[in-house]
Amino acid sequence: MTRTAIVTGAARGIGAATAQRLAADGNAVAVLDLDEAQCAQTVGAITDAGGRALAVGANVADAASVERAVAHIAEELGAPTILVNNAGIIRDNLLFKMTEDDWDAVLAVHLRGAFLMSRAVQEHQVKANWGRIVNLSSTSALGNRGQANYAAAKAGMQGFTKTLAIELGRYGVTANAIAPGFIVTDMTRSTADRLGVAFEDFIAHNANEIPVQRAGYPDDIAAAASFFCSEEAGFVSGQVLYVAGGPRA
Ligand code: NAP
Repeated sequence: MTRTAIVTGAARGIGAATAQRLAADGNAVAVLDLDEAQCAQTVGAITDAGGRALAVGANVADAASVERAVAHIAEELGAPTILVNNAGIIRDNLLFKMTEDDWDAVLAVHLRGAFLMSRAVQEHQVKANWGRIVNLSSTSALGNRGQANYAAAKAGMQGFTKTLAIELGRYGVTANAIAPGFIVTDMTRSTADRLGVAFEDFIAHNANEIPVQRAGYPDDIAAAASFFCSEEAGFVSGQVLYVAGGPRA
């Protein structure tokens, strides 16, 4: 059965890999990101592989934009019953230098974004009596220097996930979180830039600290998302899976 999945922040990084994986699993995929044009590469990769995808420009932190996007997706691809809340930003700084804008922007994209998207999509999931929600947390939820805003958001994603699992379980909807460790994407590249370290050196340094002795890649996260979104994961809900090459990064 073909289902419709939405992956937010899917223009690049973990979202792009997850969108491609869910399409390979047989789902029609809405590739949602801030700028519709930026989605072209992910959509192209999916259609080149024989899958079905739709580029959607939307800001997950904006209620009207989210409502418009989900209605458009339902019309073009069919009712969305799989949602991966992946869109994210970082605005790292030590607490005494962190601005209110740094705080608000991070909480808005991760938490408000996941809330607005889930609220819009659950309507379709409840109607279908089936659904999967996967939220991107992070090992930073356990605390990370320079990331008071991001750590709070990513810990918040875990409480949000568990509550969705409790509320939506009766409608056949599961909700789980993935907490990645160090993954090679533009986000970690920007952290290396901020620290003034070459990205290759930053990757090597982080890999050295990880029990399996390598950095993670977007496909590592896509594989976990694929499992949570599968038919056979229907009895797994409210869980947080650390995908970090060890118990934590
Ligand atoms: P990324 O490469 O920076 O990609 C994030 C994507 O989200 C970008 O395409 C970005 O668009 C989009 N986005 C940002 N704000 C948005 C908004 N308001 N509405 C819609 N889309 C928006 O990040 P990533 O490394 O793949 O991370 C993906 C997720 O995994 C994030 O939630 C992140 O916190 C989490 N995570 C990452 C790591 C890691 O090591 N990389 C570790 C743990 C958790 P623009 O390019 O236009 O800004």
